Amino acid sequence: MSETIQGGATPARTPGHAAPVAARATELTKVYGQGETRVTALDRVSVGFRQGEFTAIMGPSGSGKSTLMHCMAGLDDFTSGSARIGDTELGTLKDRQLTLLRRDKIGFVFQAFNLLPTLNALENITLPMDIAGRRPDQAWLERVVSTVGLADRLGHRPSQLSGGQQQRVAVARALAAKPEIIFADEPTGNLDSHAGAEVLGFLRDSVRELGQTVVMVTHDPVAASYADRVLFLADGRVVDELRQPTADQVLDRLKAFDAKGRTA
Ligand code: ADP
Repeated sequence: MSETIQGGATPARTPGHAAPVAARATELTKVYGQGETRVTALDRVSVGFRQGEFTAIMGPSGSGKSTLMHCMAGLDDFTSGSARIGDTELGTLKDRQLTLLRRDKIGFVFQAFNLLPTLNALENITLPMDIAGRRPDQAWLERVVSTVGLADRLGHRPSQLSGGQQQRVAVARALAAKPEIIFADEPTGNLDSHAGAEVLGFLRDSVRELGQTVVMVTHDPVAASYADRVLFLADGRVVDELRQPTADQVLDRLKAFDAKGRTA
């Protein structure tokens, strides 16, 4: 699968050619608790994430966004249905296999940048591979670094970089191992709008230029407008989808859900 990513194609943009699916949920259901405390966080969610596509997931607080991402990323188990990364069915994996899958096939970007303060930018980018005992693909690393636009700051430590630059390093770290898919959880939540735009632009470039698959949870319609499509969740279900969204369209859709919620 990573070969396709390395090719840097952007299959989602080729008319008439549906790219293979990098990850898929089928009837994915997650129930927390029992009896009176029982909550259906995901209710038979079926959705595919195509290679080279940037998807934003939106929805009100408690709609299941984090649960969907955690189940798809092998960070949480699920109650029924199926979650696949590439050809791998996560439900059949043991803990150790899930750990390896997360390490080898999935990239993560969180709201907090989670960089190690004593390492410089380049060392932070290659750290996961160093830990895994994997040699970085030098040509790929150079492409990632040139796309991230930090070539002259690779020797800087996180404290010497702005918030936006630190988050770009975190995205580059996720990209460096050529994961099948990157899950980003509110990646611009700690950034001002300028720095946020910098990081979102880089995420979008990683999709367009490097063929990376990205799934991002966000509350921000402007952030969502960088994606190829937006999925809207409500009460653990996918209730709508927008393609090539603008921020205004996303905002209108969210307002419509709000109005429905109030009259329900
Ligand atoms: P979102 O990310 O959209 O805010 P979540 O996926 O965090 O939504 O939560 C979906 C639902 O599952 C909510 O009702 C939430 O209260 C419930 N939930 C999430 N995590 C847990 C947990 N660990 N234990 C019990 N209920 C949970």
